[in-house]
Amino acid sequence: MARNTSGYNGLFIPGPTNVPDKVRQALNVPMQDMRASDFGELTFPLFAGVKKVLRTQTAEVFLFPASGTGGWEATVANLFSPGDRVLMSSFGQFSMLWVDMCERFGLEVEHCAVEWGLGVPHDEYRRILEADKAHTIKGVFACHNETATGVTSDIAAIRAILDDLGHPALLCVDGVSSLGSLEFRMDDWGVDVIVGGSQKGFMLPAGLTIMGVSQKAMERRVTATMPRTFFSFDDMLKHNATGHFPYTPPTQLFHGLQASLKMMFEEGLDNIVARHNRLATAVRAGVHAWGLELCAKDPATYSDTVSAIVVPEHMDSGAVLKAAYERYNLSLGAGLSKVAGKVFRIGHLGNLNEIMVLQALAGSEMAMRDSGINIELGSGVAAAQACFIQSADEQQISR
Ligand code: PLP
Repeated sequence: MARNTSGYNGLFIPGPTNVPDKVRQALNVPMQDMRASDFGELTFPLFAGVKKVLRTQTAEVFLFPASGTGGWEATVANLFSPGDRVLMSSFGQFSMLWVDMCERFGLEVEHCAVEWGLGVPHDEYRRILEADKAHTIKGVFACHNETATGVTSDIAAIRAILDDLGHPALLCVDGVSSLGSLEFRMDDWGVDVIVGGSQKGFMLPAGLTIMGVSQKAMERRVTATMPRTFFSFDDMLKHNATGHFPYTPPTQLFHGLQASLKMMFEEGLDNIVARHNRLATAVRAGVHAWGLELCAKDPATYSDTVSAIVVPEHMDSGAVLKAAYERYNLSLGAGLSKVAGKVFRIGHLGNLNEIMVLQALAGSEMAMRDSGINIELGSGVAAAQACFIQSADEQQISR
């Protein structure tokens, strides 16, 4: 049977996310002269807008034509030297890949391998940093939101440890699946590097690494000796000063970013965070009603952008994904690496509302039943509906 592709594709992977119509239309502009004297009229407001999203007054903003992985590389290439000691942790596919990259670049990685489903090991970080009296650790890395397991870590708590110990290491954070969706405060949390990607909370196609770099980190680049060309902060800064780029920039994505920033500010950053929490709470209520568990072990770390749902033992989450996609035109996120076959993920970030979440839950229920997972049809949907009705009531009362 051919796949039924009429109607909207149900895209509930945790990125790329659904691109709003307004953004898609904004992307559809003719090519323009990237060296024109007025190109900065397009780009300067983007730097200012991104700063607002990052909640920073003082950091430099970089827009590299790359996916989020490019931002990881830009961090390492600009701010570290071969052999530098860095403190990292892995507890999912993405935190693991950043460790792998740093090792490939020749950094000496102090690697805390954590059980998948947990987050940044704060106590372990404190212990290692406290023992580092000579301050040989040059960077402390953290994945704010591990997309593979649906775990959000407390970044402010890492800053508190560094401050408490008077440790000068740079705090480098992966915000690829948190920025623009979860609360993030670059200046208040003393984050030195934040790496984001365009295709998640920013609601754009992939293609832009969106970065913030503190002035303390910018100073580090002067003495850091790792080779850098494409991702050179210096080359970028020199050209950005006039609103230009050191190479051909993705102009359409800039127009898209202009539109997505406008949408974000119209909704309000706090409201976006609250919406993500509302939608995620309902997804979690649905998972609970199914009698299933999340991969994330501690409720305090449940992610508001993605839920990784553990299928019962001896069941294959790949079968759920296949049924969802082939029978119902619904894309769910796969279990990656260590949790392949064990979890499927619902991405609930970006341009999303209550009814869309119900669609994802309803489709997941059908796909689970098709794959032999014994859940009651409608149970997750009903639990989520109850959450939405309650929050709509509460909003009406507070108005
Ligand atoms: N970091 C996290 C937390 C991610 O979720 C992803 C991708 O999903 C990446 C990094 C890599 O980003 P990209 O695929 O845009 O290179």
